[in-house]
Amino acid sequence: MSLRYDILILRYGELALKGRNRATFENLLIKQTRRVLKDLEGWKLTRPSRRWILDLGGNDPEEVVKRLQKVFGYVSFSPAVVLKEPTIEDIKETARLIAQNIDPGVETFKVNTRRVDKKFPFESLEVSKELGGVVLKELDGRLKVDVHNPQWVLNVEIRPEGTYLFSQSYPGQGGLPYGSGSKALLLLSGGIDSPVAGYLIMKRGAVVEGLHFHSFPFTSERAKEKVIDLGRKLAEFSGKFRIHFISLTEIQKELKLKVDPDLNITILRRFMYRIAEAIAKKEQSLAIVTGESLGQVASQTLESLYTINSVTSLPILRPLCGMDKENIITIAKDIDTYETSIQPYEDCCTIFLPEHPETKPRVEQALRAEEVLDVEKLIENALATHEILDLEG
Ligand code: ATP
Ligand code: MG
Repeated sequence: MSLRYDILILRYGELALKGRNRATFENLLIKQTRRVLKDLEGWKLTRPSRRWILDLGGNDPEEVVKRLQKVFGYVSFSPAVVLKEPTIEDIKETARLIAQNIDPGVETFKVNTRRVDKKFPFESLEVSKELGGVVLKELDGRLKVDVHNPQWVLNVEIRPEGTYLFSQSYPGQGGLPYGSGSKALLLLSGGIDSPVAGYLIMKRGAVVEGLHFHSFPFTSERAKEKVIDLGRKLAEFSGKFRIHFISLTEIQKELKLKVDPDLNITILRRFMYRIAEAIAKKEQSLAIVTGESLGQVASQTLESLYTINSVTSLPILRPLCGMDKENIITIAKDIDTYETSIQPYEDCCTIFLPEHPETKPRVEQALRAEEVLDVEKLIENALATHEILDLEG
């Protein structure tokens, strides 16, 4: 007989804390679960207790876990064998098969038994002892029992509906189910940071839409494709992702003509925030999300953020603010946006980049620089270039 897992035990975390919202949260989690498994057949989700059980229906547990690892809200998954009304001998045989798959590096183990079904004729400790013996024998002296700090644990749960045996636990995304929060608008460039920022806010349940500024024809169609590719990666976590596109070409040309180059980026970013606010209001977004990280570049000093931020009253979420680039890159690799982000297509900010951007621009300086511009008109014209693209994950 070979080992075949029947089910996955699904665990979710913070949801349990959410009181009255719990049903809504669970429904969103179910919806996302269905989405990532939609092209697989035979599986079934049941909830016999607080814990959720996914009957694998013959599907490969690793494949199912890989898909569920894209769903926000789950904390961990354990593939388990289920035995209906087993004898102790049946349980021992399954324990033996599971023990055959222990990683070669493991040296210590224990068996953890919970007997919920008191009709089962052996007590928890007796079952653990029996199964411990089976594991020791199967691995022929390679393992030692360590009840305090084992490297490997065989869990056995004897319940009226069945006996579960499991040893592995795969991590989930954590966070809150997608859609449990309101909408936020992500300023999505083609860089490394903003997709990570979007991901982190999505992970807290918010519905995130992207806003990308291009400078066509100074930026290419390929640069746009790159942003779309990043949007698709984010859509894998949510099922869908909407990107708004706005042209900044006219604004950038105006700034080049009329604004001190050192202030160019500050003024440009003030335009970005103003336009983002207009789109956010139209789309009922309650916040703007950016990939800014404190001190990373000239436009991300506290002085710059202050001066740029002062054009809007919307909350600006900057989930990367306290992170080093290395941390950000680690997440970008985890969510598979990194390779796309480092493709060398020009960004609307970089093509007009000044040599010595002001690192401490003051609000008065920005206001003075903007006096020669028809700010309202420039925004209106930019908003007239609005295009929307809906992506699926
Ligand atoms: P990223 O890696 O996300 O491009 P960055 O380190 O290159 O960030 P900046 O270019 O200064 O930093 O941009 C800071 C933030 O401003 C970005 O994280 C993003 O949220 C927003 N942003 C920059 N360029 C654009 C753009 N072309 N369209 C939309 N948002 C942008
Ligand atoms: Mg950038």
